[in-house]
Amino acid sequence: ETFENLGLAPMLLQNLEGLGLIKPTPIQARAIPHIVRGRDILGLAQTGTGKTAAFGLPMLTRIIAYGKRPAPKTVRALVLAPTRELASQIHDNLAAYAKDAPVRIQRVVGGASLNLQAERLLKGCDVLIATPGRLIDLIERRAVVLSETKYLVLDEADQMLDIGFIHALRRIATLIPAKRQTLLFSATMPKLMEELAASYLTDPARIEV
Ligand code: AMP
Repeated sequence: ETFENLGLAPMLLQNLEGLGLIKPTPIQARAIPHIVRGRDILGLAQTGTGKTAAFGLPMLTRIIAYGKRPAPKTVRALVLAPTRELASQIHDNLAAYAKDAPVRIQRVVGGASLNLQAERLLKGCDVLIATPGRLIDLIERRAVVLSETKYLVLDEADQMLDIGFIHALRRIATLIPAKRQTLLFSATMPKLMEELAASYLTDPARIEV
């Protein structure tokens, strides 16, 4: 099997080839066709399964097809991750997949300058990868608005709950219009996660790898 028939933007296929990604992993083969069509996903998957590309490639495909630049301070797709390290990894992977595509991808994490991050968000972004705490700081400063956000990805959601980001997640989710596509990935499914999934996802495709 190849990436060819999954409905991805040709520009991304070219980049994948350049990166040596030839064969989709199981979560990619199963999740990408659903996400390209706009369906919500509940993905039970560990790191190392290729889940970044599984959500990133179809989301980038939809953003490229949409074709409009983001308005100031807005975010088209929001990816929340539990740690700076994971956020950076997601950012770097998505930037490589989207190389030469007209897509603005930014990362905001704790420990870096809030002012600088606020400045970078002024132009708006197509994809924002953030840790929840820092995103709340930027929302409170009115450096970013989520009223135009159409995609929400919760990556390693169980870790975000373990760290204690539940209130931040709830707050962020209420700021994003309900008419959106939501993709939730978690290695485990504790009861609180089932509740979160039930309240944030609409008729999700459940994919376990
Ligand atoms: P992830 O699970 O998203 O953290 O990805 C784990 C690693 O697998 C990353 O270094 C990716 O670059 C790599 N990877 C993702 N998809 C593929 C693929 N289809 N073929 C080979 N490597 C991949």
